[in-house]
Amino acid sequence: MRVLIIGAGILGASTAYHLVRKGVEVEIVDEAHQGKATLAGAGIVCPWATKADDPDWYRMYAEGARYYDTLIDGLRERGETSLGYGKVGALVVAEDKAELDAAEERIARRIKDAPEAGAVRRISPAEAHGLFPPLRRDLEAIHIPGGARVDARLLAAAMLRVAVSMGAKLRSDHVTLGLKDGRAECLDNEGGPIPADEIIVTAGAWASQILAPLGLLHPVAPQKGQIIHLRLPGVATAAWPVVLPMGSHYMLAFDDSRVVIGATREDNSGFDYRVTAAGEFEVLGAGLKIAPGLAAATHIETRVGFRPAARTIKPILGRVPDIGNLILGNGLGASGLTVGPFAGRQLARVATGGTTDVPLEGYAPAGRQPT
Ligand code: FAD
Repeated sequence: MRVLIIGAGILGASTAYHLVRKGVEVEIVDEAHQGKATLAGAGIVCPWATKADDPDWYRMYAEGARYYDTLIDGLRERGETSLGYGKVGALVVAEDKAELDAAEERIARRIKDAPEAGAVRRISPAEAHGLFPPLRRDLEAIHIPGGARVDARLLAAAMLRVAVSMGAKLRSDHVTLGLKDGRAECLDNEGGPIPADEIIVTAGAWASQILAPLGLLHPVAPQKGQIIHLRLPGVATAAWPVVLPMGSHYMLAFDDSRVVIGATREDNSGFDYRVTAAGEFEVLGAGLKIAPGLAAATHIETRVGFRPAARTIKPILGRVPDIGNLILGNGLGASGLTVGPFAGRQLARVATGGTTDVPLEGYAPAGRQPT
């Protein structure tokens, strides 16, 4: 069987990684659009504190986090050790005590069947400050030891490298889809067909464009995120936890004295790949309010990425009805680095006729519009 994967973000890379390990012939095509979400994503893997409630979505989110240990072990066995992955823990903080109480209750409910979250407990402002020194000194926190962060650029590249080392073909190209005899056909940039028994579209925020010629009104649009990278020269940041305040902004740190503050969530952004004054203002303002100790950090860069945002929070995973050879993995939104590796494993199972780890009915793509 020959499977063609369109899009090599975290989801396409994971799908390829899991398919080659089943002995499947794989080709991956990627255009490397500016704003590829996987290159901009923060890398937080900590589902238990979320306020969002959709049960299907949360199930995928939690399974995605749980799968990380298996994924990282599998990659390490294949020599891939540089992944920026660390179980550094997470601190949930709130300025309002009632909000922190509510978060504590929510987290306690969620971790009942998630031992991987570790021994969650409330900690004093002094302890929280000791774990993340730029933090304000008056913030109590909930400490979640199992919270993790990953460098998604390194992780996706590692999965692709393993796939290629096991025979997958990776090419850089812009491809399009058409219909031929009721099946999807993929054409390369020059209009030549790329042979495939199954086609898996993991094209991120661009998926709607590639699916439109098939008569599919795909409900995914770009949601722009601007995210700021700072450096604290000479400071050992590798063990710092992820910081999760109550809003949509957050902080995390990596090994190279790097601290990341994220991120804007700009709906109706189109593919506007610019760093804006308002974006910088919003993100820095939110970060420095919680962590004033970052005020003197060096600004390294602001990354821009387009989250594939579906109309509901749920990802879209599975076979497209009425087009026998077309499989879709999309709509990972703001949680795709957590969900992506696990979701890629499910797509590999769908393509090979295997049983998925969780039922995918609740995530099924819509079919073609009647003409
Ligand atoms: P992408 O990574 O965008 O990859 C899609 C690829 O498809 C691109 O390379 C594109 O060029 C290619 N493509 C598209 N069309 C074509 C075509 N016609 N031909 C060839 N190639 C094509 N998630 C978390 O879990 N935790 C986080 O902390 C987190 N932080 C984030 C912070 C920001 C600022 C952003 C933007 C996202 C964040 N996310 C996070 C979400 C996560 O990054 C995304 O959900 C995930 O990366 C989406 O992956 P993807 O593979 O679906 O798409």
